[in-house]
Amino acid sequence: MNWENNVRKVVPYTPGEQPKCGRMIKLNTNECPYPPAPGVKKLLESENYEDLRLYPSADAGELVEVLAEYYKVKPTEVFVGVGSDDVISMAFLTFFNSDKPILFPDITYSFYPVWADVYKIGYKTKALDENFRIKKEDYLEPNGGIIIPNPNAPTGVLESLDDIEEIIKSNPDSVVMIDEAYIDFAEEGTSALSLVEKYDNLLVIRTFSKSRAMAGLRVGFAIGNEKLIKYLNDVKYSVNSYTMNRPSLVLGVEAVKDDEYFKATLKKIINTRERMKKELTALGFSFPDSKSNFVFATHKTAAAEDIFKYLRSKQIYVRFFKQPRIDNYLRITVGTDEETDELIKELKSFL
Ligand code: PMP
Repeated sequence: MNWENNVRKVVPYTPGEQPKCGRMIKLNTNECPYPPAPGVKKLLESENYEDLRLYPSADAGELVEVLAEYYKVKPTEVFVGVGSDDVISMAFLTFFNSDKPILFPDITYSFYPVWADVYKIGYKTKALDENFRIKKEDYLEPNGGIIIPNPNAPTGVLESLDDIEEIIKSNPDSVVMIDEAYIDFAEEGTSALSLVEKYDNLLVIRTFSKSRAMAGLRVGFAIGNEKLIKYLNDVKYSVNSYTMNRPSLVLGVEAVKDDEYFKATLKKIINTRERMKKELTALGFSFPDSKSNFVFATHKTAAAEDIFKYLRSKQIYVRFFKQPRIDNYLRITVGTDEETDELIKELKSFL
């Protein structure tokens, strides 16, 4: 069994459950409760299956162009990947190669330490304060790179753009990644995209999985200085030339084109989130204010794990993390209004 000495051994990331049962309310992986833009459906039906024998474009040009136009940047400032997981993973491989540790919050997207481990990147976590907020001074020490999700997951907390800018500005020798998987659910003017022209060490990462209702398609992207994007593409082409499949490219473009549907869907989710916050508060829950499509809630008397198990028995799936500091919290995705009513009804009957 000597070959095992040479295996890259990792403890993998555990994604949220995708239960196979029929009737259920799925509020455990922050998916969008509404379908993708109607144009996507039309295209899906008319897509020429014969094209599938051909490789897709290696540079994903059509999707890059449409994203550049939408976000008012140059195509050379856009990188696309198979969900933001792929984009972040490539970015770790490309930019985090220093002897100094990279930094990220202690309570955050639990994939970060896994990528660090798999690529053998040293890391240090920085404890969020008691209100689950970042202490910006923590990110001013020497480091090999920084990744911060804004809004954070699983807390839903949004940090101010001023604090984010100070961290980027104070770290000219490291790449700072801002993972904006949930930023579309926050107010306008909170995204670090507005800083891309100003700082060449900033990479902003986004996804189609939440706000664009396309988790199943796997599309993510990054926007940053041309030089960063060039380095990212060099690594991508050294791993796999064709990361994006043909349907993802075509359907992704279609989704971006329908801005009216996108904005209307966001509005519905934000309205439901605000109502859900009120109803949860009335039931004795508290939570950091969420600017994402989920609420991270704890109850004044009932244990999170008990609530989690009860909801599960009613086919309502939420996320529970058995981890220090957060093992009395539930991360509940904002569903449709009907799903939220059902959730609140079951929570009432449990409590
Ligand atoms: N970043 C954060 C903070 C997330 O919560 C998620 C979703 N699990 C991702 C990135 C990755 O999402 P995707 O790969 O579907 O784009």
